[in-house]
Amino acid sequence: MGRINVTRSSMPKYEEYVEEIKPIFDNYWLTNMGPIHEKLQVRLLEYLGVPQISLFSNGHLALEIAIHALGLHKDGGEVITTPFTFVSTANAIVRNGLKPVFCDIKEDDYTIDPAKIEALITDKTVAILPVHVYGNVCDVEAIKQIARKYGLKVIYDAAHAFGVKYKGIGIGNFGDASMFSFHATKVFNTIEGGAIAFRDASLAKMLHDYKNFGLDEQGDVYSFAGNAKMDEFRAAMGLCNLRYVDESIQDRKKVYERYMERLANIKGIKVNVTKENVEHNFSYFPVCFDKDVFGKSRDEVLFSLKEKDIFGRKYFYPVINEMRAYRETYGVNSTPIAKNISSNILCLPLFEGLGTDNVDKICNAVLE
Ligand SMILES: *Cc1c(COP(=O)(O)O)cnc(C)c1O
Repeated sequence: MGRINVTRSSMPKYEEYVEEIKPIFDNYWLTNMGPIHEKLQVRLLEYLGVPQISLFSNGHLALEIAIHALGLHKDGGEVITTPFTFVSTANAIVRNGLKPVFCDIKEDDYTIDPAKIEALITDKTVAILPVHVYGNVCDVEAIKQIARKYGLKVIYDAAHAFGVKYKGIGIGNFGDASMFSFHATKVFNTIEGGAIAFRDASLAKMLHDYKNFGLDEQGDVYSFAGNAKMDEFRAAMGLCNLRYVDESIQDRKKVYERYMERLANIKGIKVNVTKENVEHNFSYFPVCFDKDVFGKSRDEVLFSLKEKDIFGRKYFYPVINEMRAYRETYGVNSTPIAKNISSNILCLPLFEGLGTDNVDKICNAVLE
């Protein structure tokens, strides 16, 4: 491996994929909930251990449509979320005509701090949208209590959390809905793709119709919906990748453990610790640098890794409330912890097949 990127997509054997897409060339059914789509949907329901699931062309549109299907898009309400996430989370809120209200995060696992949520609730608040950042499980119990007390919906952005379990329960079982991303860079991919896991069966029809122009069975249209369907070729990629996802996570775990051996005890470096009761998916390896103790800043480390053909990623940087589209309207810097972490965090390469020798090479480069 010459150049080491921060991630590399998991892929099946070429022959296996070709075998999987063969039926498409016999039945000419390319998209619109075809047989491969239906098969993948059932397999994912089983794998994730969730009551209901609906597949989408990508995770972002899945999230946007879930917000709409839960009926939250009315009256310009507010949604409490985290600024320490991929911009998709907040864009999905704004694109529904809602206002994101940014809540600060916890120092230890970078997820939304439930102790700071209540102070942000107003009579306009309609929902909480927390993110299981890096596959770290949010404080689901505390969030549930707050949501109950104030009658709010909870939608989890579980884009990083495919295969994660909390107390033995699949992560897609918490809240009113959870969004999974099957983007090429995620633990499980369908090239591009995503899903909503949910409990309330009455959402199923809406999610189905809203990803297909708001068409009903009679061909009439009852909503100004767009198009977010998953096609057969991507579903086939999903079926192939799903066969190996457990192996893939085990391989990631080896990489994670080697990183931990090498970096967990270094002064000035904070690693991501897997919590009790959590079955993790080892999706990312974020490290936080304390320049005063470590001697080098995040940006200096990133630069010197690059010189050795190793590519980390400032993920997430900047925080969303400081992005250009956001800072004027939402840019009050009310989330100092998120801002501080965002300035010091670096995701080191972690993917299936990276191997412990490469981890050593990366760690040596970090520590030099
Ligand atoms: C990847 C990601 C998304 C968007 O998913 P896509 O499938 O790329 O549309 C949303 N939120 C988070 C936190 C993500 O990492």
